[in-house]
Amino acid sequence: MVVSNDLYDVIIIGGGIMGASTAYNLINSDNKLKIGVIEMDPTYTQASSTLSMANIRIQFSLKENIQISQYAFEVLERFEEEMSVNDEKPNISYRREGNLFMINNLSRKVAEEALELQKSLGCNVEWWSPDQIKERYPLYDPADCVGGTFGPDDGHLDAYSVLMAYRAKARVIGAEFLKDEVVEITTAGNEVTGVKLASGKALTAKIIINCAGAWATKVAKTANVSLPVAPIKRQIFTLNTAVKPEGPLPLTILPSGLYFRTETGNLILLGKSMDEDPIGFDFTWDNKRFMEILWPELAEFVPSFDTLKLVRGWAGLYAVNTLDENAILGEWPETKGLYLANGFSGHGLQQAPAVGRYLSELIIGNALSLDLSIFRPERILENKPLSEKGIV
Ligand SMILES: Cc1cc2nc3c(=O)[nH]c(=O)nc-3n(C[C@H](O)[C@H](O)[C@H](O)COP(=O)(O)OP(=O)(O)OC[C@H]3O[C@@H](n4cnc5c(N)ncnc54)[C@H](O)[C@@H]3O)c2cc1C
Repeated sequence: MVVSNDLYDVIIIGGGIMGASTAYNLINSDNKLKIGVIEMDPTYTQASSTLSMANIRIQFSLKENIQISQYAFEVLERFEEEMSVNDEKPNISYRREGNLFMINNLSRKVAEEALELQKSLGCNVEWWSPDQIKERYPLYDPADCVGGTFGPDDGHLDAYSVLMAYRAKARVIGAEFLKDEVVEITTAGNEVTGVKLASGKALTAKIIINCAGAWATKVAKTANVSLPVAPIKRQIFTLNTAVKPEGPLPLTILPSGLYFRTETGNLILLGKSMDEDPIGFDFTWDNKRFMEILWPELAEFVPSFDTLKLVRGWAGLYAVNTLDENAILGEWPETKGLYLANGFSGHGLQQAPAVGRYLSELIIGNALSLDLSIFRPERILENKPLSEKGIV
């Protein structure tokens, strides 16, 4: 029997955190599968996975998003062990330094409801009064807030190391990673048949997964599928403050959406999603935004940060699902074999373990460990948005 090298069981478009986790979960569940991951830039200079804040939190308002993070906590605790290759463990610098959502009168009701749901699901989240916040973080001025919700288990990690670890482990157990660009998803009737690559090659598969992040809409369009996923620029700034906090600061999210936390080297990372953030593939960052808008806002909440140096910044892309800013997960109803893992906006990194497991269970036909059908692509066609209040 002649077996074509170009024939795959599953082709994954995009080898960022979603593609790599999905490849790992698929091959780990069935090592006979021939999986090809096509990544156009294995240096990942523009991938959202490597440009993110790498924060993991339990504090969402939709049950499934909370459960996804609960699973992420579980996976990350054993990740270095599970991803070890030839007895070498990756180092993902997983630090559970907490997330603190500051609450004002306007956000109080939503925060209380979310907290109740989180507690009912067994999450470790506490309501803190302004005095408690001040006592724990003396640099903060919570005068304008009615309190905050603190998730001590939340935290952050080294996203690049997590991505590399998934990639390395998936390869060792049999997945192939190819450096190329998918220029077309080929179809016959209403089924996928494979992909055409920029190198001129054509690969065949009955299952194609779109894990192309901010490029997902462009990729889907080649199969005549229209996705509501927009690449939106977000900026992060690195600060060296004159006054240093005593210990690590949790990711602190102000009611305005401004967020910051401490970073290795006694630095502060800060960002804010803003309405005027442009759509497109623009990776330039702009110090004027920090100097004129964000710094005054920061200094109001942390007065001693009125003296600092802006060390650097960067821009990355949120793949924003413009319907509801939540994941689009599963098979596209109008194209057999086309699976989507798209539209994760600003919370995809922490969702990668659960997404990879879910897609592999769906595709292989195993029982679902966690039913994520609420994120089904059908809701796009039906115009039925989900409601998640914890979008940052
Ligand atoms: C500034 C910023 C902060 C963030 N902070 C957080 C956070 O704190 N916590 C969190 O959970 N999430 C965060 N996110 C979101 C998170 O980074 C993303 O949701 C997640 O990384 C998405 O992973 P992905 O694999 O879908 O996309 P990506 O990492 O972008 O990977 C997609 C890959 O597909 C490749 N590709 C695209 N088109 C093609 C093609 N035609 N052929 C071949 N390859 C292709 C690209 O090169 C890319 O490597 C943040 C994002 C940004 C930008």
